[in-house]
Amino acid sequence: MYYGYGGYGGVGYGLDWTVLLLIGGALLSMLASGGMKSTFAKYSQIRSHSGLTGAMAAQRILSAAGITDVVIQPIAGNLTDHYDPRNKTVNLSQASYGQTSLAAIGVAAHECGHAIQHNTNYAPLNIRSAIVPIANIGSSLSWPIFIAGLVFSIPMLLKAGIILFSAAVLFQLVTLPVEFNASARALRMLSSTGIMGDNEISGSRKVLRAAAMTYVAALASSVLQLLRLIILAGGRNRDD
Ligand SMILES: [Zn+2]
Repeated sequence: MYYGYGGYGGVGYGLDWTVLLLIGGALLSMLASGGMKSTFAKYSQIRSHSGLTGAMAAQRILSAAGITDVVIQPIAGNLTDHYDPRNKTVNLSQASYGQTSLAAIGVAAHECGHAIQHNTNYAPLNIRSAIVPIANIGSSLSWPIFIAGLVFSIPMLLKAGIILFSAAVLFQLVTLPVEFNASARALRMLSSTGIMGDNEISGSRKVLRAAAMTYVAALASSVLQLLRLIILAGGRNRDD
């Protein structure tokens, strides 16, 4: 889900300074995404001493965690790695599935971290899954409803748009503990299974930290967008 930075541009209000909030959010997202790409590129070049590929490391971690019903499979795309709780699959992109770099193994271990969360009924993961449908409705309907509220001057629609957008922000907020916890589990497993030594783990940790920053930036950017909606709605109410 993505909201785009264009959205409502302040039609009929002259210069809309709140656009600066969107620009700030876009800059944060760009910085985080650039940081992740460069960190990933750097540690993709460093081979792991174990010689294990991401897929092999994932298999070891799942076995060590006593998980036997999760399938590890390759998927197309770049940075598309994810765990799917619906069919219990660890999906690894080509760059992590078959490679034996610190980045590949770090990402594979992170997705196993989600599988372990699922297996142990980790509460934030369940809360996050429960919010998904509401968050999807929120992110797709908030802008149209909010704009309709502005165009037709209906305060109730403005409020509804803000509440819907808040649901999407809440989802991103709950995503943070889930992501940080998956990485923490991943690094612990890499150490306890002996897949990596301490000096290698610090490389994987940097990759996972950079990836986590993209979630932090996405949340910050959404909070700025929410702030903008509240300011625009407040300005409109004063006009009436
Ligand atoms: Zn994750």
